[in-house]
Amino acid sequence: MLIRCALLMTVLLFASTPALAQTEADTRVEWNRAVQPFTVVGNVHFVGVAGLGAYLITTPEGHILIDGGLPESAPRIIQSIRDLGFDPADVRILLNTHAHLDHAGGLSEIQAVTGARIMASEGDRGALERGRHHGLTNYGTWWFPPVRVDEIVADGQVVELGGVRLTAIVTPGHTAGCTNWSLPVEDRGRNLTVLFFCSASIGGNLLVGNSEYPNIVDDYRQTFERLAQIEADVVLANHPDIADLFERRERLMAGDDEAFVDPSALGAITETFRQAFEAGLERQTRDAQP
Ligand SMILES: [Zn+2]
Repeated sequence: MLIRCALLMTVLLFASTPALAQTEADTRVEWNRAVQPFTVVGNVHFVGVAGLGAYLITTPEGHILIDGGLPESAPRIIQSIRDLGFDPADVRILLNTHAHLDHAGGLSEIQAVTGARIMASEGDRGALERGRHHGLTNYGTWWFPPVRVDEIVADGQVVELGGVRLTAIVTPGHTAGCTNWSLPVEDRGRNLTVLFFCSASIGGNLLVGNSEYPNIVDDYRQTFERLAQIEADVVLANHPDIADLFERRERLMAGDDEAFVDPSALGAITETFRQAFEAGLERQTRDAQP
C-alpha cells in the first residue's frame, strides 16, 4: 500500500510538464473520489475522500476537523460530516497535518462554511497564510487557497474541546511545521491512543541545496528518531493507503473490532519512510555532484 501511495505521490509531484498535466488532473480526480464516511474508533470519524484523509472528532461542545484535502475536496468533506448526522456549523476547530496543497487546499472553504478557528504550528503558519509550501521542491510551486491562522500551537501543546485532548507532536521535514496529533479515545470500553500521522516522505523536497530550508536533512533525521519513540494503538494517515485505512474498514464492517488496533503500525511506517529518505538523500547527493 505504501508503494502504491508513493507512486501516486510521484505522479502528482512530478507532473509539471504539459505532457504530464493530464496525469496530474487524473490523480486529483482519483484522489477526490467520494467515499462513504464512517466511524473509525470512539468519537473519531473518517470524512475524507478516496486518496486523502480528513478526520472529524466529535464532542458535546462542538467538533474538531483535521485536514481539508484538496481545494475540490472541501464540499465532499462537508457533505460527509452531514451524512454522519453532524452539523458542519458545529465544527469549532480546524487542524492540519501539514501545509501542502493536498491536505491544506480545502481548509479555506471549510473555514468559510464552518466559521471554525484554525490552529497550526509556527513552522507551517507562513505556508498556510501564503498558500504556498515552504522550501524548494522538484515540482516547483503548488499554490492553494490561503487561510487565516487564528492560533499557534507549540510542540507538546494540548488542544482541548468538550473533554477531547489532542496533543501536537511537531516533526519537521516533510514540511517545516509537519504536525502529528495524538488523541486518547475510549472505544468499546477500552482506552486507545490514536495518532493522526503527518508524513515523513520526501515528497518532492530538495534535500540537497535547499536554500529556503537549509536544515531540512537534520530535521528529517530528528523526526525519524522522534517518531520511533511514539506509541500509538491506532494510526490514521492523511493518505489512507499509508495505514491501510480502507482494508481495515472492510475488516471493521465484517465485525472485527480490532481492525484499527495495531500498535506495530507506526514503527513499520516510520522505518519504511526512513529507508526511503536515506535512499533518496543518497540519490540526490549523487545527482548534485558536478
Ligand atoms: Zn505533503
